Amino acid sequence: MSSASLGLGEDLRNYLLQVGVRENEHLAALREATMSHEWAVMQISPEQGALMQMLVKLIGAKRCIEIGTFTGYSALAVAQALPHDGYLLACDINDDYTRIGEPFWTAAGVRSRIDLQLMPALKTLDAKLEDGQAGTFDFAFIDADKANYPMYYERCLKLLRVGGLIAIDNVLWGGDVIDESNQDPETLGIRAVNELVANDDRVEISMIPVGDGLTLARKL
Ligand code: SAM
Ligand code: CA
Repeated sequence: MSSASLGLGEDLRNYLLQVGVRENEHLAALREATMSHEWAVMQISPEQGALMQMLVKLIGAKRCIEIGTFTGYSALAVAQALPHDGYLLACDINDDYTRIGEPFWTAAGVRSRIDLQLMPALKTLDAKLEDGQAGTFDFAFIDADKANYPMYYERCLKLLRVGGLIAIDNVLWGGDVIDESNQDPETLGIRAVNELVANDDRVEISMIPVGDGLTLARKL
């Protein structure tokens, strides 16, 4: 799914990791701790983590959203890229997963920046909208259940300020996105969000072949 970047051979990817990414000790330790997990493949790759940290810093993000936390690697990467008073709303439904990551957030000194909400992400996002927080976030990373991607995208677009960035993960879906014989709800969700974003004049877009495909949508 997203542990390596699509299309790169093993040797070239190893070279990229060697000269193109500086994964710090906390991220490396969390990757190591997740490696034996049956769903370790869900974790973003080091090169994607580095890209997301760069983006968060480049746009000067202070308030971020993550939809789909798993063992907390992408949350740790984003939280580390935030200023001391930064805030990351991290959404997941499975505390067996998130419990693995929390000690690593603490060790890295960023636990207080992460607001972990363990309930369906749509509920969490709708509560923020009802609370009047539309337009107050800078960055959102969408990486939970793919069937809900179009709904996550719409909520995030409302929650973001103008100039804010949404990063949507797994948009190439291991190539299944162009295999029309695949009609499962997750694949349909990814196709739907790709179509939605491609034709959405509320955003500027760039789809990047990092990991399993990452679409950046900048709110106009
Ligand atoms: N971003 C994570 C990382 O880099 O390690 C990987 C996230 S994993 C692909 C997807 C996560 O979404 C799982 O941890 C799963 O429990 C969570 N999830 C699934 N359905 C959800 C929902 N309705 N609301 C919130 N989280 C959900
Ligand atoms: Ca993913």
